[in-house]
Amino acid sequence: MLSTDPEFKKLLLLHSRDRREKKMLDELNNIPAEITRTEEKILVENQSIELAMEEWKSLEAKNNSLESEILSISEQINRQKNRQLEVKKNEEYQALENEIISLKTKESEKEDEQIEVLVRIDDARETARVAEDKITKRVVQLEVQKKGLIERESEVNHELTVLKGEIQTSRSEVEEEALRIYDRIKKVVSRPPYLAPLTDQKCSGCNLRVSNDVVSSAIVEQKLTQCDQCGRIVYIER
Ligand SMILES: [Zn+2]
Repeated sequence: MLSTDPEFKKLLLLHSRDRREKKMLDELNNIPAEITRTEEKILVENQSIELAMEEWKSLEAKNNSLESEILSISEQINRQKNRQLEVKKNEEYQALENEIISLKTKESEKEDEQIEVLVRIDDARETARVAEDKITKRVVQLEVQKKGLIERESEVNHELTVLKGEIQTSRSEVEEEALRIYDRIKKVVSRPPYLAPLTDQKCSGCNLRVSNDVVSSAIVEQKLTQCDQCGRIVYIER
């Protein structure tokens, strides 16, 4: 068969519409999973803001607890100093003095620790701020992506409805016998194309060489011809 044959052209049109339908159905199948993936990404981004905030808050809590520890040590030092004023014996005075020294060492360690925490608070606050800023923008982008997917879904559904009508029109215009063969090929061949042009005596559907009979049937007799390897309808592009 030649691609210029008017009857065959109707079959070619049906074929291209069927292929478009298949593509659209594949796209529709993928959209829900893509929406889920986008939602998961949004969740992860939001969680990472929360993590940064939690880190900052836990450091603030650590600072507060150090603050009260330091306060309590300083109160203990004052108490021991007051007791020093009251004791008479030198050993007792010295014992209190030793205790004061050890408390002061502890106080100084806690103060060093607090300074470190304060520096980390500054970093954590900045990290949380940057994270929130950056991630908020990223989440906005992802939300736009998700909206786009939902819109695309309804768009494809609409296009598909139109296309289904066109396919019905095409089917009604193709000769009965040709349609019967075409439908059978669609069932047998696992994936499109169902019609394949012949190039250099090769079927472009399965890429195998067809017999001389097939070539002669397609070109000379210009009949509806099937590839003797894969069963697809083969034709000559003119
Ligand atoms: Zn073939």
